[in-house]
Amino acid sequence: METLETQTQVTLAGAGPGDPDLLTVAVLREMMCADVILHDTLVSAEVLALAGPQAQLIETGKTGFGPSMKQGDISSLIVRLAQEGQRVLRLKSGDPGVFGRLGEELDALDAAGIAYRVLPGITAASAAAASLGQSLTERGRNRELRLLTGHDADGLAEQDWSALARPGAVAAIYMGKRAARYVQGRLMMHGASPATPACVVENASRADQVIRPATLATLPTVTAEAKGPAVILLGLAPRDARTALKEAVL
Ligand code: SAH
Repeated sequence: METLETQTQVTLAGAGPGDPDLLTVAVLREMMCADVILHDTLVSAEVLALAGPQAQLIETGKTGFGPSMKQGDISSLIVRLAQEGQRVLRLKSGDPGVFGRLGEELDALDAAGIAYRVLPGITAASAAAASLGQSLTERGRNRELRLLTGHDADGLAEQDWSALARPGAVAAIYMGKRAARYVQGRLMMHGASPATPACVVENASRADQVIRPATLATLPTVTAEAKGPAVILLGLAPRDARTALKEAVL
């Protein structure tokens, strides 16, 4: 029986938020045997160090703002390498299906008739919430969770602000550094309290991770302090304070 793995020429996979321990075994296995690994800038050096010695590494950019290959060029390159008979691994940070432009690459592969598989990864919001000791959803607090982008192809992204402004709402904002003031303004306009908890998690899961607690009132200033990749968690604060309090009571 041929397994899915042997039939597939292109694997599109998530490398997780940076800590190599958060790679899935499936992605690690593919890294060991891929001929070419095309990776985004946000895929950490520690993860790339796990590539097999045969693998050629190609960085495609896509930091959000910096110089990067055009999406169409990346898709064409993936197709060309696969047509040459190479075993291609397209490695994206976090989960490939969360703000990763996965669909465009799958469309290109479909159009070229190339077989592929998608391997999920741990997205930045999951890693950031874990670092806070917080649950992304919680009974009695939030029945839904939103993953938002701060900006899209048309500039600052429109959202369902009234839903986000409700007490207890939880959302993770990706690529939100430039959008923090705009988000703050919109939420307050829709009635959110300036005291709404928030948190900015920079370099989640990495050795240089920084957790910056904030409120809606301080969000733009706190977000501006982050230099590396950062995800904003709206509606969540680090659990430490609560845990410390419980321990003191016990
Ligand atoms: N596919 C990725 C997201 C890519 S968009 C995922 O699922 O995580 C790029 C944005 O992801 C960054 O601007 C930042 O907001 C977020 N991000 C990626 N890695 C991160 C990390 N280690 N810590 C905090 N935010 C991160």
